[in-house]
Amino acid sequence: MNCSRLIPVLFFSACAAMAQTPAAAPTGASRPEEPKVVKSFDASTIDKTADPCTDFYQYACGKWIEDNPIPSDQSSWVRSFSLVYERNRYLLWQELDSAAKDPKTPLQKQYGDFYASCMDTAAIDRRGLAPLQPAFDAIAALAGPGQFPALLADLENHGTPYGFFNFGVSQDDKDSSQQIAVIYQGGLSLPDRDYYIVDSPHFAEIRKQYVAHVTKMMVLAGDTPTQAAKEAAAVMEIETALAKASTDRTLLRDPENRYHIYTVADFEKLTPGFDWSVYFKTTGIGSFNSLNVATPDFFKALNGLLQSEPLDLWKSYLRWQAVHGQASDLPKPIYDENFAFFRKTLQGQQEPEARWKICSSATDNALGEAVGQDWVKENFPPAAKESMDKLVAALEKSLGADIQTLPWMSDETKKEAEAKLAMFRNKIGYPDKWRDYSSVKVDRADDLENEQHATVFARDWNYGHLGKPVDEKEWGMTPPTVNAYYDPLMNDINFPAGILQPPFFDFTIDPAVNFGAIGMVIGHEMTHGFDDEGSKYDGKGNLREWQTPADRKAFTERTDCEVAEYNSFQTAPAHGDTPAQHLNGKLTLGENTADNGGLRIAYAALLDTLAAQNKSITDKIDGYTEAQRYFLGFAQVWCTNETEQTVRQAALTDEHSDDRWRVNGVVQNFEEFGKAFGCKKGQPMYPVSSCRVW
Ligand SMILES: [Zn+2]
Repeated sequence: MNCSRLIPVLFFSACAAMAQTPAAAPTGASRPEEPKVVKSFDASTIDKTADPCTDFYQYACGKWIEDNPIPSDQSSWVRSFSLVYERNRYLLWQELDSAAKDPKTPLQKQYGDFYASCMDTAAIDRRGLAPLQPAFDAIAALAGPGQFPALLADLENHGTPYGFFNFGVSQDDKDSSQQIAVIYQGGLSLPDRDYYIVDSPHFAEIRKQYVAHVTKMMVLAGDTPTQAAKEAAAVMEIETALAKASTDRTLLRDPENRYHIYTVADFEKLTPGFDWSVYFKTTGIGSFNSLNVATPDFFKALNGLLQSEPLDLWKSYLRWQAVHGQASDLPKPIYDENFAFFRKTLQGQQEPEARWKICSSATDNALGEAVGQDWVKENFPPAAKESMDKLVAALEKSLGADIQTLPWMSDETKKEAEAKLAMFRNKIGYPDKWRDYSSVKVDRADDLENEQHATVFARDWNYGHLGKPVDEKEWGMTPPTVNAYYDPLMNDINFPAGILQPPFFDFTIDPAVNFGAIGMVIGHEMTHGFDDEGSKYDGKGNLREWQTPADRKAFTERTDCEVAEYNSFQTAPAHGDTPAQHLNGKLTLGENTADNGGLRIAYAALLDTLAAQNKSITDKIDGYTEAQRYFLGFAQVWCTNETEQTVRQAALTDEHSDDRWRVNGVVQNFEEFGKAFGCKKGQPMYPVSSCRVW
């Protein structure tokens, strides 16, 4: 799965969510067990020996962290995301399992068969590598670099991963009513370009282990050890060259750095060795005259590499991509070896998750809006949608009031900001209209082919947007997903049914806790519309400066404060050859801005709500004031145990800060926190000076 950055902006790292595998059923259990609903407010997570004014995260989560070690099939364990994800997936599994045994509708037959084929590991083992043979043959027949465009398109048409780059259709950043072709750098297998190019003992060791891993995989794919070692060296050489040609992900956060419109003719002049018209035509995307070449330098370098690197190296790279990219659906030895490197070595996960979990996720990933239709009937009552509408309206109101009171922003810019806010659209729960998967051929006996058909369907669905009007009702997440997003080109905020569950959202709990949890999520997504990236788009979703130069300058001074602040936060200690790991304040700036703004405006919305009920923020429930319950409800979302490997990988690749700093970094910037807990000015969580953007 490609984790390179594309909009929209998620609440929680999608890559992390994919990599984190929720807990297995208890060891030895033959059937999955239903996970409990997570408590919305739980005083038992609190470490009463800690001082909330010194380390609020430790205070709010310390006991939970102590009592909830990472399960052996996990690399990260988050009180909210992991537990809700686990429960949602269990409920999904129930549906898939019953559809596989006794389907009642054609839709159930389709997703039931998809799930059943994934579960049939005996059939997967029996077929061995035979399903890869046509791709291997096509790669072996490559006679010269001129044949790359047709070969890559042909592999793509069969759903075979091939690396190289990412291509698809997306809205035009500068005219969001248009849907255009976009091509992006890609082709790496390790999590980030740093893994290939940073000169340190830590990364040198990972590279050594990676080459050993590729060698083992190619032996499992049928090559001799000598051949496989040569192939692994080739893969390393090509991927390192692609890494060097890639733009740093932090720079790509600036939309101007990934927007370069080329005519197809000019793109071909940039890369004369690769005939794009052949590639585009063979994929069947349809004709177009211009496209966004997001990262031109990468394609220029790729063009050079296609000429300079021997053809045999490229063949090795393509064979590797085919095996690596489909490892989850290949025989057990390949599955296990892939796990051993990418999950165990890189992320510290001790054992693979149970097959039913893998297959439930795979079915959700492939046919999400088919499975989701039945899932929401069971798990998302209409009243939840109404209640969310009210919360969103309350948050919109408080963000509007916040904009009004900003001391640094001119009236002219405030008008623009309000206009943008007024144009926000909200999507809650699930789509009005479901995607039609009827053309996806599913064969109960052929897991890999089903995956390939689903991949081709998703690609064709995306390509089908080219030149068409934008459909505002489409969703970028499936209903059971535990996440949310803001899309700057759509200017919409999206909350799938999957996240609208306790401890995020709970009908039965007091408003303080709901505003601290889901209210803050809503505020977070809204603030993305005004972070360092979102603020560059207007209400129509067009990349257009709407701040005056003086306001932009004042805005940047404020975001620079946050960059420096988060740069100083350490996430992993130094030991041996390995240096301490700090957050990257620039990479995480948008998320940090959204977290800080979200907590502030959700708090304001809570004050309004309490006032309307003649209640005060200092009223107590079960020994905690409304304000304290608000901050605890917020922090308890983020109680987390993570392996050090995962922390280090996330610091390089994840635009979200480490969970400890998603709590402490935010509360120390919000003076209401210090007041709520009676902190003294100058204590770590109540500093004399702090950063504020919104
Ligand atoms: Zn976010």
